[in-house]
Amino acid sequence: MIIAARKSLEEIRNMLSGYKRILVVGCGTCVTICWAGGEKEVGILSSQLRLASSKDGNELSVMEAVVERQCEKEMVIEELGDKVPGVEAILSMGCGAGVQTMAELFEEKPIFPALNTTFIGMPEKEGLWLEMCGACGDCFLDRTGGICPVVRCAKGLLNGPCGGNLETRCRK
Ligand code: SF4
Ligand code: SF4
Repeated sequence: MIIAARKSLEEIRNMLSGYKRILVVGCGTCVTICWAGGEKEVGILSSQLRLASSKDGNELSVMEAVVERQCEKEMVIEELGDKVPGVEAILSMGCGAGVQTMAELFEEKPIFPALNTTFIGMPEKEGLWLEMCGACGDCFLDRTGGICPVVRCAKGLLNGPCGGNLETRCRK
């Protein structure tokens, strides 16, 4: 799945400066699982934005929504079709694919990314995700014992263990 992490509140607020009515849109799939952009995180960020703007004396209207998969146009239109006309800008809490899907669909609105998309990975244990794939476009895991050297070798070596190995296995 796609792993992402939220940008700082300061960076997000800088992107949104000048807008008075925004829609914060989460994604119910990958970024929900990695706790970056699901319903809970949409609620937290929206509250932070409202609080910070009212402290500054700038009333910001923040609407909230979550699309099951933000990278699927049909789902985005079904969930957001009636919400988008009423806002000036959209803040996406999906990965980069979600942000771009919405930018294509809602050309007339500025779309801002609230997350940094970091890698393709898997959950190792609670709160820890491991990078597993660099989306190289030519998977050769059949020749590497099911371990991806593109992202899991510290040196990115494709041709077997280097001099730092211990009894043929990587020390990592
Ligand atoms: S937009 Fe698509 S790929 Fe990105 S987090 Fe959501 S479901 Fe995953
Ligand atoms: S070789 Fe590694 S980076 Fe390339 S597709 Fe396979 S898992 Fe992903």
